[in-house]
Amino acid sequence: MRPQIIDRSRDQEFMHLALALAAEGAAMGEVPVGAVLVQHGQVIGQGFNRPIIDSDPSAHAEMVAIRAAAKSASNYRLPGSTLYVTLEPCSMCAGLIVHSRVSRVVYGALEPKAGVVQSQGQFFGQGFLNHRVMVEGGVLAQECGQILSDFFRARRAKG
Ligand SMILES: [Zn+2]
Repeated sequence: MRPQIIDRSRDQEFMHLALALAAEGAAMGEVPVGAVLVQHGQVIGQGFNRPIIDSDPSAHAEMVAIRAAAKSASNYRLPGSTLYVTLEPCSMCAGLIVHSRVSRVVYGALEPKAGVVQSQGQFFGQGFLNHRVMVEGGVLAQECGQILSDFFRARRAKG
């Protein structure tokens, strides 16, 4: 396999975009998580967590962004791509990330209960997986966590 050139120079920029998407979700009453899929330096898929609006338990931000990206690329695999997501992925999304051959995952805040990248084991390090994913956490972690705590605080206040 050829070594991949990792470009971190735009990580913050793309995470800001994911945060803006999360805010869109919050405005619609969804738990605010946003995701952006970048391939060859271009955003080809984006989305936010929307299971309530869509009546779809699989409509996590990562799922929405990857589906849109694959459609846009007319390819069920997304080699060389980077997924930016404001929250550490869950087991469902981690599985999808492997199936779609995303090369790199960059996330913001930790998800202590359901996150499987570092909070609950290290999904991507398992030997049976036939695809290696690079992972990096903690990009704009403070902002990514803040939008979630603000959302839950406002929801509690509403009673
Ligand atoms: Zn998920």
